[in-house]
Amino acid sequence: MTVPEPELWNCRAVVFDTDGVITDSAGVHASAWKEAFDTVPGVDPPFDAGEDYRRHVDGKSRLDGAAAFLAARGLDTPPGGPEDEPGTGTVAAVAARKEQIFVRMLSEGGVDVYPGTVRLLLALHDAGVRCAAVSSSRHARDLLSRAGVRSLLQTVVDGNDMARLGLPGKPDPALFLEGARRLSVEPGEAAVVEDALAGVEAGRNGGSRMVVGVDRTAGPTSEDDLRDHGADIVVRDLDTFLSTGRKREGE
Ligand SMILES: [Mg+2]
Repeated sequence: MTVPEPELWNCRAVVFDTDGVITDSAGVHASAWKEAFDTVPGVDPPFDAGEDYRRHVDGKSRLDGAAAFLAARGLDTPPGGPEDEPGTGTVAAVAARKEQIFVRMLSEGGVDVYPGTVRLLLALHDAGVRCAAVSSSRHARDLLSRAGVRSLLQTVVDGNDMARLGLPGKPDPALFLEGARRLSVEPGEAAVVEDALAGVEAGRNGGSRMVVGVDRTAGPTSEDDLRDHGADIVVRDLDTFLSTGRKREGE
């Protein structure tokens, strides 16, 4: 692991991804995807909630994630449309089924937050660094409120905002640009914190001052993969930044 520069403390704002960075919800998403994909005829081998999730689905919109994984298994699944019922016959139906399962799983159990992220959010808040959370998920605002961290974030851009504003999903930087815009900073003044490959790529594409990759999986290639997709530094947990302390320019 690289020792992170205190650079984060010199950014005017930090835009955080939500799932897997603030809330420990990536695992719930991955489990819901597995249940949805593994009933699709022709999905062989079954969906791997670790590697397939990371490579094909994580950070993307539901439809983009479903399409990417099914294509990766060599399936020519028709796209379908928003009226499709949850099922297995079209990409939209599989995505709808994942949503149905995810909502069921959420109702069955709560979602945890990463304590290191909460500590960093508190420290950034005290240091006057503005923070936003972004997510492709329509559930993000609700998750953040339920997790008790909504008040530490000046703004949240989620899947509902994406639909309303017509924002494309990651690796397009639109979500991060909207987050920076709402914090009244230029993208080049803000850091982006992401755990997904499509997400660090979006941060790089958006011209962020720095892109922090959070490597929760710590697999054999996960750190290199995050770097290759655009992370300037990679950390296992965000409390790493607390030990570098607050060293703002001019102090
Ligand atoms: Mg994520």
